[in-house]
Amino acid sequence: MNRAILLDRDGVLVPDEGLLTDPGRLRLLPGVPAALTRLTAAGWRLAVVTNQPVVARGLIDEAGLASIHRHLTDLIIAAGGPRLDGIFACPHHPEGTVAAYRQSCTCRKPRPGLLLAAAAAHGYDLARSWMVGDRPSDIAAGRAAGCRTILAETGKHTEAPIRGAGWEAGTDPDHRCADLAAAAGIILA
Ligand SMILES: [Mg+2]
Ligand SMILES: [Zn+2]
Repeated sequence: MNRAILLDRDGVLVPDEGLLTDPGRLRLLPGVPAALTRLTAAGWRLAVVTNQPVVARGLIDEAGLASIHRHLTDLIIAAGGPRLDGIFACPHHPEGTVAAYRQSCTCRKPRPGLLLAAAAAHGYDLARSWMVGDRPSDIAAGRAAGCRTILAETGKHTEAPIRGAGWEAGTDPDHRCADLAAAAGIILA
């Protein structure tokens, strides 16, 4: 079994710009490639778990989202960072405008479905893994999956909770810090 860092995308790897639909607008936050490299060098596997209701809102389709995520992977590699195991995205939203994606799914954080899918695909031991995110919903999902949790306090950490079920596990992180570089420091300490 592998130990992994489950990473939120917006606010942790790239700026949270709301509904990102253009791969050309994607840029990495400072220190991200180096932090990811430090983690993989220490034996941690990496996967991204991200809510992307842009699909349910009809702003892009799943192919467009996949193209954004190929670009994200390319940016990390081009900056000297490591290869990720995968990027797991929830395309749903309970109030989406595209019928096929308008649902109360089990993958939208704060539910833990994306983390469980990543673990099943790559053999992660979630009890030895970490979730790093910048919203309380990331922490709830991480706790529900049995991970240790780190809240990156980027500004979104004070936002109102995502509506609906999934908060049962609670939103108290094990650690708080400023960004991914600081989170890597906590994990590697
Ligand atoms: Mg985020
Ligand atoms: Zn979903």
